[in-house]
Amino acid sequence: IIGVVGVNSEYPPNDSYEDLLEWAKEHTPSECYTILKSTKLCNSLIPYRRIFDDRKYVELLGEKWPQSYILLGDAMCKFNSQYAQGMTHAFRHARELGKIFDEHSHKLEDISYIFNRPASTISEEYWIGSTTNDWKTPRLKLITTDKTGEIRTYQRGGDSNPTKDLEPRVPLMIKFLQCYNYWFIRCAAKSGSLSTYLVHVISQDCNPLILMKPTTLLKVCYMALIHQFCLSNN
Ligand SMILES: Cc1cc2nc3c(=O)[nH]c(=O)nc-3n(C[C@H](O)[C@H](O)[C@H](O)COP(=O)(O)OP(=O)(O)OC[C@H]3O[C@@H](n4cnc5c(N)ncnc54)[C@H](O)[C@@H]3O)c2cc1C
Repeated sequence: IIGVVGVNSEYPPNDSYEDLLEWAKEHTPSECYTILKSTKLCNSLIPYRRIFDDRKYVELLGEKWPQSYILLGDAMCKFNSQYAQGMTHAFRHARELGKIFDEHSHKLEDISYIFNRPASTISEEYWIGSTTNDWKTPRLKLITTDKTGEIRTYQRGGDSNPTKDLEPRVPLMIKFLQCYNYWFIRCAAKSGSLSTYLVHVISQDCNPLILMKPTTLLKVCYMALIHQFCLSNN
């Protein structure tokens, strides 16, 4: 299976393979074009234009959560499929639910809300990675629902905003993580152990928090500060 992805509503054409090839010639590196050109098409092109992150903060309801009603995998939290995290996330939810059943210490109707908390902790790991990157997208739409059920829509980028939605404000935590990621990757380029951690996180073997161990955090902040200091001295 070959996937061709666009960003900011610049979708590759899906009406014919010839048009897709034309698009790839213009928009992708020559190696990608060569691979696509030498590929034998076995099926029709399948478009998918529903790339977004969507999370239900189920744990906030605590015991008020409906009894015997369990959300799992994408139903609880869906990620931008570009980062290929959804299956690991769903399997980890299933394993966690299995563990709770195996304990045989809870009433069946309570299991759903008991499951919500550890399940949400699992979702958080993938949510951070996905949303930290997606907040960088110039054209962004954000829809939030608060505890009272009020829905708010924010939007940035694009040629027009006929609904006059508010601009979304990047959360401080996301700004920090974006900056941290940038400097972490620069440090990892010079450190075998840091690049190994990064590979483990990308391949979803490890919790992303491993990238923020105190010594690593210090190294990354030190590099960022030194760079800033050198720049301000020049
Ligand atoms: C284009 C694309 C590429 C992706 N690439 C990757 C990847 O490379 N790696 C990765 O890890 N993840 C990837 N994902 C994400 C991954 O597919 C999902 O996260 C994962 O399948 C979620 O599993 P799930 O069981 O929660 O939901 P699903 O796999 O969506 O399963 C839910 C099932 O419930 C059925 N259903 C829905 N409503 C009803 C109903 N009312 N009654 C009965 N049945 C119903 C649906 O038909 C479906 O079969 C990708 C997703 C997309 C869309």
